Amino acid sequence: MTQVHPGRPRVGVMGGTFDPVHHGHLVAASEAQARFDLDEVIFVPTGLPTFKLDQDVTVAEHRYLMTVIATASNPRFTVSRVDIERDGVTYTVDTLRDLRAQRPDADLFFITGADAVEQILTWKDAGELFDMAHFVAVTRPGHALSVAGLPDDRVSLLEIPALAISSTDVRARARAGEPVWYLVPDGVVQYIAKHRLYRGQS
Ligand code: ATP
Ligand code: MG
Repeated sequence: MTQVHPGRPRVGVMGGTFDPVHHGHLVAASEAQARFDLDEVIFVPTGLPTFKLDQDVTVAEHRYLMTVIATASNPRFTVSRVDIERDGVTYTVDTLRDLRAQRPDADLFFITGADAVEQILTWKDAGELFDMAHFVAVTRPGHALSVAGLPDDRVSLLEIPALAISSTDVRARARAGEPVWYLVPDGVVQYIAKHRLYRGQS
């Protein structure tokens, strides 16, 4: 594996819209942490996600706070505001630039699910992404994990326990008054109820 140096901090980066964060995200981060011996995994809620400009996305502060609640009990998990504090659309290349500036001594591991992996080559400055981080591509139910066309020395595949959970489904359940217990952490269930999130969306 290139870009990885013994003795340097190993930092995972889990980017996502987290609208809301769910146990699929947490298991992906936990598995990557263990498999790659990461000192820390930084969850980075997006500002405006590029691929969701046509959708209603919950205000960043709610998504950020739910991510804080969900990760609070894990001493290796932290949450960064770099994407929500940058104006405009979020591009992963900017996320990685900002985190590298904050952690110049660290090796970064960008964790991404099978559905997102398929799109990496369409992301802004795709070539540069692989110079800035090692990519960890995790399995996700309903999506074939293919890394065809990606530099194989910069991408690792990781099979993780299959959790067929998506934020889209959690939002639909909340809207329909169906339970979201055990799909998201208890504190996130309570946060959604307290702020009546996902009630008014079509
Ligand atoms: P939405 O349905 O709104 O797109 P989502 O569940 O896909 O939400 P995102 O915030 O879009 O969640 O995903 C953030 C990252 O987590 C992506 O890399 C995605 O592939 C990965 N991911 C999301 N859910 C799972 C899951 N159940 N198993 C593995 N990876 C997941
Ligand atoms: Mg998604």
